[in-house]
Amino acid sequence: RKVCVTGASGFIASHLTAMLLERGYTVHGTVRSMARKDKTEHLLALPGAADRLKLFEADLLKPESFDAAVAGCQGVFHTASPFFMAKPADPEKELLTPAREGTIAVLEAAKRVGGVSCFVVTSSMAAVMIKEAPEGHVWSEKDWSDADSLRARERWYPLSKTIAERAAWDWHEANGKPFRMAAINPTLVSGPMLQPTLNESSAILAAFVTGKRDEIPTGCMSWVDVRDTALAHILAMEQESAAGTKEEALTTGKGRYTAVGESAPWRDVALALKAGLPADLAARVPTPSDEVSEKPTDYNTSATKALGLKWRTTTEMVTDLARCEPFIAAIR
Ligand code: NDP
Repeated sequence: RKVCVTGASGFIASHLTAMLLERGYTVHGTVRSMARKDKTEHLLALPGAADRLKLFEADLLKPESFDAAVAGCQGVFHTASPFFMAKPADPEKELLTPAREGTIAVLEAAKRVGGVSCFVVTSSMAAVMIKEAPEGHVWSEKDWSDADSLRARERWYPLSKTIAERAAWDWHEANGKPFRMAAINPTLVSGPMLQPTLNESSAILAAFVTGKRDEIPTGCMSWVDVRDTALAHILAMEQESAAGTKEEALTTGKGRYTAVGESAPWRDVALALKAGLPADLAARVPTPSDEVSEKPTDYNTSATKALGLKWRTTTEMVTDLARCEPFIAAIR
């Protein structure tokens, strides 16, 4: 059983790679540069990596660069996509093109080399819930973000995820559904880091320790654990009935998997950070007020849970991040 993971060096993909190796798969992982030890060393040190992990160089902006990594694989997990919230100087070049054209490039590679039976694309709740909705709406895989409004409001990262997922379903239909396909739509992901450098979502929590953010918000935020997110990808691939078609993705939502563990007050997040970090770092986290000014958001994740998942709590997720060595080293 051989599978390809694009962007293997990333936060979510590192866990996905570790979990696949643990389950006995042979993994072809793509990285942008083999010369970057900070992107490869933690992968090559994973249990099973010596025998069953092979790394390949590939870039979303070089369409044919994925062929070698995808060749011989029965499954492809396409996780690579630029993820940053800061305002890009050139949104098309930095976010939209790699997300959309990169997704199509990996799909094309999977079709060209042959033998691929399932393709799982990492999308986002940013492709689900950024649109007008009535008060109390329960978000589910049936929802799609409004791309026109995202473009008008210059919400470039959510736009990149929305158009990339839509492009994947469009391509799948237009190319005669050459393999099964599913999309995983995580909300903000946290939990222990395997990679040595802070990714965007880990940096959000690091900011409370490093002083970049000096107040804990009183509202709520939706989170999902990185380990649950990685497992959702694997279960969607392993279970044949999990796949969907473009028509289903746009109507019933079949084939799309919302990954949201919990909508929790920031207060709980701050307390879990304080509980998990070594004392000197915990002391730097601002003390949250008791006030919670917002109700948690409601999500329907029943399709994802039916794959066999049980979400970790936000407290467990944040505590495990705060206790993990790479996170502590990155913020010291
Ligand atoms: P990371 O930034 O850790 O991972 C992103 C990966 O994409 C990296 O391996 C990165 O490579 C790779 N990548 C970016 N641009 C290119 C490119 N031009 N060519 C090849 N590879 C590229 O973030 P996450 O692990 O958090 O994100 C993984 C996926 O999950 C993304 O699709 C993201 O949109 C999605 N997601 C993440 C959420 C989160 O909260 N973390 C929430 C919802 C969805 P390199 O390391 O070289 O930069």
